[in-house]
Amino acid sequence: MKKAIVVLSCAMLLAGCCNSEPRKAYVEGGVTEYTCPTPYTPVVVNPMSKGLTPKNIVFMIGDGMGIEQLSAAWVANRGALNMVQMPYVGLQKTYCLDWLVTDSAAAGTALATGEKTNKGMIATRPNGEELDSMMDLAQQAGKRTGVVVVCRLNDATPATFCCNNPDRDEAEDISADYLTSGVDFIAGGGMDYWRTKRTDGRDIFAEIGQKGYHTYESVGELMEATELPVAAVVAPLEMPSALSGERGDNFRNMVSKSLDMLSKDNDEGFFLMVEGSCIDDWLHANRVDAAVEEILDFDRVVGDVLGWAEQDGETLVVVTADHSTGAMTLLWGDIATGSVEVGFANGGHNGILVPYFAYGAGAEKFDGLVENYELSKLISDYIK
Ligand SMILES: [Zn+2]
Repeated sequence: MKKAIVVLSCAMLLAGCCNSEPRKAYVEGGVTEYTCPTPYTPVVVNPMSKGLTPKNIVFMIGDGMGIEQLSAAWVANRGALNMVQMPYVGLQKTYCLDWLVTDSAAAGTALATGEKTNKGMIATRPNGEELDSMMDLAQQAGKRTGVVVVCRLNDATPATFCCNNPDRDEAEDISADYLTSGVDFIAGGGMDYWRTKRTDGRDIFAEIGQKGYHTYESVGELMEATELPVAAVVAPLEMPSALSGERGDNFRNMVSKSLDMLSKDNDEGFFLMVEGSCIDDWLHANRVDAAVEEILDFDRVVGDVLGWAEQDGETLVVVTADHSTGAMTLLWGDIATGSVEVGFANGGHNGILVPYFAYGAGAEKFDGLVENYELSKLISDYIK
């Protein structure tokens, strides 16, 4: 019996996802050594009791953040990270329906909707049917919803939670889909596709304002917001990189503001998706310096969310990645100085398992090796 199952699963693997997209070579001019100049001390949170049902859920995704990249960031921050102290840890399989090596659209769809799909598809089945995401489920359950990212809001991961489209490259259509998303707190970049460089002459930013959203074009303005719903589109494309120093605490401030506003006078709870979006971009460029700083910026946000969840006592926090990027490995490092040396084998994604971490109310259900869609179902079971 056991043998039959093994044969069957191998056959499924071959039929479903064993194919040969050309591998992308490593990138000339990449950066493979880095010493982090500004380490920080992680927050310390107490474990929560088991058996609690979460009222609020924060789902946090580091785009491209595999075990290798996390290990490098951990060394760079002197052997400490917020997310690695979350008590429940496992691994998930990232492959999509038509490729072993997924992209963020197919992986995001699995994480957002609980169903695997083909590469490039945004919360859509291969036959074109639209899928409900956790955002939809949360709204149906009377919960508030939010999305906070540092990339374009039309980019694949946030889009899989808030929009539907068979093609991730339809940036203008996807941006316009936020008009009917019903999401209460929307914050990220991508104004080029909301207004500035649209080819159809529409101004989605103005249109969402006409629908009753309070609209903001900078994080500074967003901090003054007092009423939901909120749409903050704070950059033409991505926000400035964490390495450049120009981002400052803007990612942290956006997420803290979303927690404040989504939780205020709210008996039903909320679902919030937060993405450390640009880790992946820098791994594509084989830049360990910028990728590590993106992970550390994301991890500071994780620390803020863990501290908030501990105080709240009814919040579940899950952190994971959609896939791993850059076929990176950690070759050398020094925890005392925060120096790392890595190698990159390519400038694309790969098919390695990625980790997940859980903390807070209901976190004890997260354990072991799962499919990406199963991780999604574990979360959405708490939303319905
Ligand atoms: Zn990528």
